[in-house]
Amino acid sequence: MKALITGGAGFIGSHLAERLLELGHEVAVLDDLSTGSIDNIAHLKAARHFSYVVDSVTSEPLLAEMIDRSEVVFHLAAAVGVKLIVERPVHTIETNVHGTEVVLKHANKKKKLVFIASTSEVYGKSADVPFREAADCVLGPSAKHRWAYACSKLIDEFLALAYWKEKKLPVIIVRLFNTVGPRQTGQYGMVLPTFVRQALAGDSITVFGDGTQSRSFTYVGDVVDALVALAAEPRAIGEVFNIGNRGEISIRDLAERVKTLAGSDSPIQLIPYDEAYEEGFEDMPRRVPDISKLRALIGYEPKVGLDEIIRRVIDRMREHEVPQNRTSRAAVP
Ligand code: UDP
Repeated sequence: MKALITGGAGFIGSHLAERLLELGHEVAVLDDLSTGSIDNIAHLKAARHFSYVVDSVTSEPLLAEMIDRSEVVFHLAAAVGVKLIVERPVHTIETNVHGTEVVLKHANKKKKLVFIASTSEVYGKSADVPFREAADCVLGPSAKHRWAYACSKLIDEFLALAYWKEKKLPVIIVRLFNTVGPRQTGQYGMVLPTFVRQALAGDSITVFGDGTQSRSFTYVGDVVDALVALAAEPRAIGEVFNIGNRGEISIRDLAERVKTLAGSDSPIQLIPYDEAYEEGFEDMPRRVPDISKLRALIGYEPKVGLDEIIRRVIDRMREHEVPQNRTSRAAVP
């Protein structure tokens, strides 16, 4: 297949590009490098079926041409990361809503298959765990900026499903749960790369709140496998899927696990949410996916467990980012 990946120089997009190329597909990337990085795709540049353009999805003539040349569009370009969302709410809403709007508009001209990358954040404060795709979304008030992200992604979902219903544009919506792995940066607030960097540098590991909140982490390779399998499944069209991993861990335990696996002496420091983000910040206590829909359709089963994920992130950061540190020892097996 000829794939266009918007946001293809980002963390997930670059892993998807890599996997598609390995499978013999053709990949074009469109990325404005706002949160992505050329380093993420540097190793792909020499591949025969790979090309990339540094520009925004809102450059419509270019986007239209790139969509025209592709058979499937993975629309991953978005403003991501809770820190970024809280700090730059206008940018988040505009990027996520307008970007998807133009991708769908141009894909519709020749009815190209479009993947919309949504998020587990849309389940918001729901306590109905594990989260099923058909369940209610429980968001907080508009005065709390965090919810702008979930809302912007929900608008993307509504618009994509409207295109499917009204214009028969083939769309597939995926709600990604906390996706982690090598190349993810902690710069925009993601917890695992942040903890690993802190542990390797011997700095305090910053656990926000009391650390009892939990998340279910999925290896990026498992996520891209699911995307590739869905692209080949006609019954996925017009549907919404959770992509995640059922295993759940509290953030406090995650900090301990990272510390152990990195062989680090870093202290674990609790930081109130108000200080970490902004006053009145609301976090969700649990976020666990129900993956039975995805399992039933494509036989999806996540393969990489959390310890292995943490090890891979540590190895990558040791090799690429952290100068020889002060306190961390060799990894504990
Ligand atoms: N978190 C933390 N320390 C950090 C960054 C994040 O304790 O340095 C917490 C955050 O408050 C949340 C969880 O880790 O409860 C996951 O945060 P992340 O931003 O990775 O993803 P989210 O699930 O919030 O979208």
